[in-house]
Amino acid sequence: MKIHADYPGGNIKVISIDGDTVNVENELRTTKEDWFYFSFCVEGAEGKTLTFNFINGRNRIGYWGPAISYDYKAWHWLDIPGASTPFSFTYTFGPDESKVYFSQGIQYMPERFDALAEEIGLVKEKFSLSLKGRQMYSYTLGTGEKEVILTSRHHACEATGTYIIEGVLRELSEKHQDFLKKCKIFTVPFMDFDGVVDGDQGKGRVPDGFDVVHDHNRDYIDKPFYDACDKMQKRFESNSENILGVIDCHSPWIFSGINDKVFVIHRDDVGDKIVNFSKLFVEESKELPFRHHEEDFFPANTQWNSDLGPKCITSVVKRVPNCKFAFTLETAYYGTEGNKATQESIPLLGRALGRSIVKSLS
Ligand SMILES: [Zn+2]
Repeated sequence: MKIHADYPGGNIKVISIDGDTVNVENELRTTKEDWFYFSFCVEGAEGKTLTFNFINGRNRIGYWGPAISYDYKAWHWLDIPGASTPFSFTYTFGPDESKVYFSQGIQYMPERFDALAEEIGLVKEKFSLSLKGRQMYSYTLGTGEKEVILTSRHHACEATGTYIIEGVLRELSEKHQDFLKKCKIFTVPFMDFDGVVDGDQGKGRVPDGFDVVHDHNRDYIDKPFYDACDKMQKRFESNSENILGVIDCHSPWIFSGINDKVFVIHRDDVGDKIVNFSKLFVEESKELPFRHHEEDFFPANTQWNSDLGPKCITSVVKRVPNCKFAFTLETAYYGTEGNKATQESIPLLGRALGRSIVKSLS
């Protein structure tokens, strides 16, 4: 039996194996607060029943257990009552299950986005270089002079946001070609590209040379540290007249309370723009298996929503004053019974966001 993280997005440390119990912990790397992302592969455990135990007893696993994949493409939740706690789960490997991937959440890797680009005809262009020198890309749908910008993975592990972007792009390419002649969608789906590929948390990074948190969504300063943030901010400045909207897609904390919801971060320095957009989004998603609810609006100056720091959206508000909407969207990893996040339901919600974009700009 082999337990490893030797693949893009992998993150695990095997501490010990004691009979049928495998003691593990995830790697925080440059993240200095506790965080929960993990992803590992088990090979050669056919027929065995194993319990995977995160040794520090911290929250690592959500309501439906880990996300599971046999091909690292299609994901489903373990979803067996009693088979998981927030820090352990038990899995019985079928007789043919020679390779099984387990992750904290449903993964979205760059290969999937490239396949989407090919399928629906996105224009893929060089955008920037990551800190480790990897080539990063932007993807554009439509030919309009005006544009809406969509980003995700300022925090590497927050894959729900990339499924949202996929849904927006599918909806617009299938049903709103006229809109796209006036307004294109410009997206950089993996802002912390290194973190996504290396399987980092990405959230709360303290990079070498810094003594405070400076992750990609804290980098919209005068001279950004990450080239991708610098390029994005320069686009806000140079194309300010044409940018109609910006949505930065995230996932919240692992679970509980508001973290189980889909919520738009409201702010009070842009009038009613975001609240009005949220209402459209509620309307467009109301029939869906995974929805945005009006009672989940996240008003300005509540909980942690008073920190306007050097974030992507704060930069937009400053640099694109005529923008029709600019907000952070938080999409839960798990959701709740009756409002569940799955590999199918999150892109459907993204489609509703796409319809909301079109309506708000029509
Ligand atoms: Zn985030």
